[in-house]
Amino acid sequence: MRLSRYFLPVLKENPAEAQILSHRYMLRAGMIKQESAGIYAWLPLGYKVLSRLEKIVHEEQQRAGHIPLLMPTLQSADLWRESGRYDAYGPEMLRMTDRNKREMLFGPTNEEMITDIFRSYVRSYKDLPLTLYHIQWKFRDEMRPRFGVMRGREFLMKDGYNFDLTREDALHAYNRHMVSYLRTYERMGLTAIPMRADSGPIGGDDTHEFLVLANTGESEVFYDEDVTRLKLGERAINYDNREEVAAICQEFTTPYARTDETHDAALFDAIPEGRRKVGRGIEVGQIFYFGTKYSEPMGATVQNAEGKQVPVEMGSHGIGVSRLIGALIEANHDDKGIIWPEGVTPFHVGIVNLKQGDAEADAACEALHDSFVALGLDPLYDDRDERAGGKFATMDLIGLPWRITVGPRGLKNGVVELTSRRTGVSEELPPEEAIARIA
Ligand code: ATP
Ligand code: MG
Ligand code: MG
Ligand code: MG
Repeated sequence: MRLSRYFLPVLKENPAEAQILSHRYMLRAGMIKQESAGIYAWLPLGYKVLSRLEKIVHEEQQRAGHIPLLMPTLQSADLWRESGRYDAYGPEMLRMTDRNKREMLFGPTNEEMITDIFRSYVRSYKDLPLTLYHIQWKFRDEMRPRFGVMRGREFLMKDGYNFDLTREDALHAYNRHMVSYLRTYERMGLTAIPMRADSGPIGGDDTHEFLVLANTGESEVFYDEDVTRLKLGERAINYDNREEVAAICQEFTTPYARTDETHDAALFDAIPEGRRKVGRGIEVGQIFYFGTKYSEPMGATVQNAEGKQVPVEMGSHGIGVSRLIGALIEANHDDKGIIWPEGVTPFHVGIVNLKQGDAEADAACEALHDSFVALGLDPLYDDRDERAGGKFATMDLIGLPWRITVGPRGLKNGVVELTSRRTGVSEELPPEEAIARIA
């Protein structure tokens, strides 16, 4: 991409309405534009990051054997009356009436709809286990939308629902979700800690929230420092192997880690003092096992091996895809701007031409740009006729992991400058070597 042809409306001034850094940087880097309170347009750079996160979520869900589908944003009130949640949900639900006076709502979550889809088609235990998920916009009329995409009213969520015959099967689905979530966050370059949580309005027996540690987080968290050192790494995972998946969950949930809702002071005090940490966290996901809470009232039953009709065992599992962008920036930035982890960066490398219009510099930049494209990478070439300082400031703000600076002086010696955004370290090397380093 050539910056002169892109749409990157960078702001020089700090927007007054943004209280936290991630919100400020997202506005300044031209990633989002507020359209109403808690409702954002995703400008090209923000949309690119959002799409990369969606892709990672899809890949990891499907690796775990979960099946994508797409449900609508608008739902019928009648469906929610069946579960009893239409009245229970309260003012967070955006309600509306269509031209035929039918009551509708903008979905804040999809337990009712997915249960309806399931009961419409599935009859036998032989069709289980089944986990369906989608990535779709949700609406919750939050009392205090704030911090940009972190607490929006319209936000993008991955929500998945498992259907199983027995409680044991459903607990395996729960564990599978925990592990697939750990992998998802790790691929994004984030540490998200599973913490035992309260079940809240969705209701249920077993639930964990995933929290990214950050001073601006809305939850107070208490944890054993050991939990922050756990990594899945490159280990191969067989999601069908119950013992293996359960062992990973055990590993990640053994060190103490809880939010203020479930905090137990006695357990916390038993941790050696040096490892006892109190901090704040951003909730980027949550998994629930809730058994037959929806299947029973909504009549989602299957015939079991004995020919008896039984309600299916269920759970629901969510990832805050759009909130993750805020969490990623809170965890990866400096005073110049964002520092994207490689796994989620909107462009892999920025190319800065120090002397636009110089035939040799222009040709070298074009050649670099085309080489990256040929390698399947996404370069952003700043080909504007601007001063170097402005170009550097833009690159630092938008936070691409690598910058290649090209100027006539270096080219005379056959070199360009390669700079790591994270370490700030620069090196002079021939263009081919710079490409090899990034590819
Ligand atoms: P919160 O406690 O922050 O209000 P929640 O517990 O109500 O979130 P869930 O119902 O668990 O949210 O939804 C799954 C995920 O969706 C959350 O873990 C969070 O990452 C994301 N999410 C929830 N509400 C919002 C919102 N208003 N804006 C952006 N993301 C959200
Ligand atoms: Mg909420
Ligand atoms: Mg919550
Ligand atoms: Mg939650």
